[in-house]
Amino acid sequence: MEWLDYAGTEEQQMMRDVARELARERLAPAAEEYDRSEEFPWTIVKEIAAADLFRVFIDEEFDGMAGGMSIHNMALVTEELSWGCGGIALSFAATALGTLPIIISGNDGQKKKYLPRIAGGTIAAFALTEANAGSDAAGIRTTAKKDGDGYIINGTKQWISNGGEAEIYTVFAMTDPSKGARGASCFILEKGMEGFGFGKKEDKLGIRGSTTRELVFQDVRVSEENRLGREGTGFMTAMKTFDMSRPGVAAQACGIAKRAVDEAVSYAITREQFGKPVAANQGLQFLMADMAMKTEAARALVFATAKYIDTHEKRSTKFSAMSKCFASDVAMQVTVDAVQVLGGYGYMKEYPVEKLMRDAKITQIYEGTNQIQRDEIGRALVKEASREAR
Ligand SMILES: Cc1cc2nc3c(=O)[nH]c(=O)nc-3n(C[C@H](O)[C@H](O)[C@H](O)COP(=O)(O)OP(=O)(O)OC[C@H]3O[C@@H](n4cnc5c(N)ncnc54)[C@H](O)[C@@H]3O)c2cc1C
Repeated sequence: MEWLDYAGTEEQQMMRDVARELARERLAPAAEEYDRSEEFPWTIVKEIAAADLFRVFIDEEFDGMAGGMSIHNMALVTEELSWGCGGIALSFAATALGTLPIIISGNDGQKKKYLPRIAGGTIAAFALTEANAGSDAAGIRTTAKKDGDGYIINGTKQWISNGGEAEIYTVFAMTDPSKGARGASCFILEKGMEGFGFGKKEDKLGIRGSTTRELVFQDVRVSEENRLGREGTGFMTAMKTFDMSRPGVAAQACGIAKRAVDEAVSYAITREQFGKPVAANQGLQFLMADMAMKTEAARALVFATAKYIDTHEKRSTKFSAMSKCFASDVAMQVTVDAVQVLGGYGYMKEYPVEKLMRDAKITQIYEGTNQIQRDEIGRALVKEASREAR
């Protein structure tokens, strides 16, 4: 199927082609197996790293891509990989998510220490959520207590993508619980630190090619050099991270939706009922037309937002929330419709569309549910209108 092309430069076209080839040759054929086993796809993750794709969201001076860190590039690669498998692609996207706090709030020393490793394929993770703090992220209870020239971290993080597999973790903890959101700070932790362990690995509905795991901190000692930014700025780092990472979730949703359209139309031209392909029925053509239109509309919003982030100093909260919310709702609808196009076969595991439907669901939930995205958009609209009215 031909889709609108958002790879503008020659470098972007090359990067897109590399990611596309990996998606078709490696991710798509392996997707069913990882969906069944729920193992971490190390072999493929190493190939993604060997293809230099982890460099696309890191600045050139830290061994990243020529031309610098780019959300547009990150979205292009995430979309392509997600066409192959939304779960395996998450190992890439969750690494970008875990790296963004270092890019946003890290000092030069922290960037020099960690970014080149990630650019070379060391995977990262972002640890905010806890059992009692999901949408209300300011309610986290993990603490980082000042101790001499460092901190002692205690607590448990829940549902962390790449948990247990990543080497580098950006972890949010309260340095002053009495201050609420203003009392949170962000720290860089490494696998293997004393007292840093891993708990329950989740058994999930979709994106089963990615690992979702609990992180346990028992008196983990870190130095001040592990703190990103000033004390109390952790929540701001998390929010700025989401501004930049949500188009990544949106791109994952677009990759899944594109695959659903491709699979549905390919099936519909070969499946015959009443002596003709089912695709010859206008009723089904209209459904497929809506699926493709919604997917292209979502892609336009996602890549326009990515471009906005790359070219503006201003925060992109409203547009990032719009792209994440719209693209994930489209992915959910389009994958449900793809199952419908395949009829009973769509419901069976021998065809890939039921997995697409399961994979799409998470994009409406993580990095802020779509209720929270609508909340963000609504608040931004009111704030803008009030400012203009003054
Ligand atoms: C597979 C998976 C991977 C994840 N990966 C990570 C990760 O790598 N790092 C990380 O930190 N977290 C991760 N998460 C956590 C994820 O970001 C949270 O699940 C999400 O933010 C929602 O929190 P919750 O599940 O606790 O839902 P809750 O906050 O308990 O919400 C329950 C329901 O109430 C609604 N709701 C809550 N507040 C409001 C409101 N103010 N207005 C309207 N509706 C509201 C929600 O939309 C939802 O429908 C992951 C989750 C999953 C399932």
